[in-house]
Amino acid sequence: MISVLSLTPFWIELVDIKILKESARKEVDSERKRLVEIAKWMYENPELGSEEFKVYALLTEELEKQGARVERQLLGIPTAFCASFKGKKGPRVAVLAEYDALPGVGHGCGHNHIAASAIGSGIAAAKAAKDLPGEILVVGTPAEEGRGPSAGSKVIMANKGFWDDVDAALMLHPSTRWGVGGKALGIWRLRMEFKGQTSHAAASPEKGVNALNAATLAYMASHMLRQEARRDANLVIHGIISEGGLASNIIPDRAVCEFGVRSSDENYLATMVDKVEKCAEGAAIATGAKVTVTKKKLYSSMKPNIPLIKVLWQNYADQGVKVDDWQETQAGIPMASTDFGDVSRRCPSTGSYISIGPEGTPGHSRQLADCSVTKEGLDAMIIGTKALAMTLVELLAKPELLKEARDYFTSSK
Ligand SMILES: [Zn+2]
Ligand SMILES: [Zn+2]
Repeated sequence: MISVLSLTPFWIELVDIKILKESARKEVDSERKRLVEIAKWMYENPELGSEEFKVYALLTEELEKQGARVERQLLGIPTAFCASFKGKKGPRVAVLAEYDALPGVGHGCGHNHIAASAIGSGIAAAKAAKDLPGEILVVGTPAEEGRGPSAGSKVIMANKGFWDDVDAALMLHPSTRWGVGGKALGIWRLRMEFKGQTSHAAASPEKGVNALNAATLAYMASHMLRQEARRDANLVIHGIISEGGLASNIIPDRAVCEFGVRSSDENYLATMVDKVEKCAEGAAIATGAKVTVTKKKLYSSMKPNIPLIKVLWQNYADQGVKVDDWQETQAGIPMASTDFGDVSRRCPSTGSYISIGPEGTPGHSRQLADCSVTKEGLDAMIIGTKALAMTLVELLAKPELLKEARDYFTSSK
């Protein structure tokens, strides 16, 4: 029989964590007005990637006002920051903010919610966990949509080792469902520049080398690779011909193709990128044109961390929202790519998604941006902020969870 005495410490610990999480939720409630203001202000004042100067100033000032030590222009990235709430020496848990908008559709990816929830959860968790050892970081990561010199800033940070001594990284993304975890595709970008020879299209076609024909062949050949695609690796090849001549009576001497190649399997992705490159080389040989291919890995695929997924999932479920079963989410087909993938390959990480509008609302749309400022959308943002804050507190209060997340990270691929 277990004595009452031996149960007592465990019971006290449980109550303490419950109280800590409850206090994190209350802190978020008391911040609601300010967080809503920030989300709405961003909706009204969208800034494109690498140019998020106004929102960068707003977020860093807010964090400083709430007692964080803010490092601006983090790692030389003009609109990146790291705000730290430091307790006694201990683990470092991070929540990530994004704040870039999209051309034409403003906050059509809902990054105004990502920013508001990150600073809201960081501030609330820091207040609730002020007596716990450890450090809470709110990291400002600009240009997630891949625009300008800070494009994919999380990758720049990853390459400089920023995430290596972070014990857990969390964030949320607006959607039309509730869920935690999920995969993301790795992505490479290829640019093919074909060089030919101009000539009169009717009077002297034999003197020309048609660069557009080469580009068209490369475009078609790349599409034909799809038939051989490994279906379990979620291959996506998408491309455009961005330049294809200046006038129809001149044989074009220059044509450019731009391609994205994506997959959930990192090694397979590299193989397929090489094959797309060969399509360009083959097209050049066939037409007598010259080709220069430049290729660059943009984002890594997402490395899931099941222990973190379970904790964050529970903190959504405990608030009564209908969260997708995380096992089903993990088994689902990855749809897009994110620079958060590179964070997940450097430290235990998980994302989550919040339902801010009716199912069927397209991502990257005016409609999704509008959802971010409705009552329903803003309520969802507050629930997400609470789930992040509760999880940050729980991770600091239970170092064994962080150890489990680290062990999983080290032993999985
Ligand atoms: Zn997006
Ligand atoms: Zn996004």
